[in-house]
Amino acid sequence: MQELKQMIAGAGRIVAFTGAGISAESGIPTYRGSDGVWNKYDPNKYANVNYFFQDPSYYWNFFKEARYSVLKAAEPNAGHKALARLEHAGRLAAVITQNIDGLHQAAGCKNVLELHGNTRTIGCLDCGTDYGIDAVYEQLETELPPKCRQCGGTLKPRVVMFGESLPVDILERATEESGRCDLFISVGSSLVVQPAASMPAIAKRAGASLVIVNQDPTPLDDRADLVIRESASSVLSGAVAQ
Ligand code: NAD
Ligand code: ZN
Repeated sequence: MQELKQMIAGAGRIVAFTGAGISAESGIPTYRGSDGVWNKYDPNKYANVNYFFQDPSYYWNFFKEARYSVLKAAEPNAGHKALARLEHAGRLAAVITQNIDGLHQAAGCKNVLELHGNTRTIGCLDCGTDYGIDAVYEQLETELPPKCRQCGGTLKPRVVMFGESLPVDILERATEESGRCDLFISVGSSLVVQPAASMPAIAKRAGASLVIVNQDPTPLDDRADLVIRESASSVLSGAVAQ
């Protein structure tokens, strides 16, 4: 942690890259380390676009039973807040995230590049109307899967599911930020999901120092300048001054 503190103090342009692990301590389970009702549902089904079109009610049951209440209850933890402090201090150029929970923004971060979209908005695939999650959650009481109130079309959360491509503009900006920083801190990501996991490699190739904060080993650990296998929130809050 002392070493991370020094690296942050000495860096000119910092980029943070985050995955599900940073939100685990906010009560949002990661895919692998989950328990309870969340575990009843298979991410290979609820997070897969082909499965979504085959049987949308599987996703909507998951949303109704497991995801909605977890998302509503989740609040940013000390890790999200430490990154927000770093941004306010003008030290953090961007947060690139694989997460869809909106907790970086809730903590006050402004420049958040969401590679996988977010679950705050649910869109109609036919007419493009957007709905908030509360309205659709209510609708699920009587209609599952829910249909667009304007046109009867299919509703899908504006998240990138497995089998879908990432938003090109966000991916471009993330690639650019990764290539321009001199310190790249990856937090709570297993670094196995592509193309998101290529960001640390891009940073490293461009000459940045690479720090990996993650409970489990990642495939990029041996290329990192510093690896900390501890809780994301305690490492970040310890390394970023109040
Ligand atoms: P992942 O591939 O991002 O890996 C999560 C990593 O976090 C694991 O390697 C684990 O060791 C680490 N971890 C868990 N708790 C931690 C903690 N307290 N401190 C530090 N590290 C911790 O996650 P995944 O669950 O396999 O997800 C795959 C994809 O789905 C990713 O894109 C992910 O972001 C997304 N997803 C998002 C959310 C969310 O928005 N909160 C939740 C689940 C999955
Ligand atoms: Zn519609």
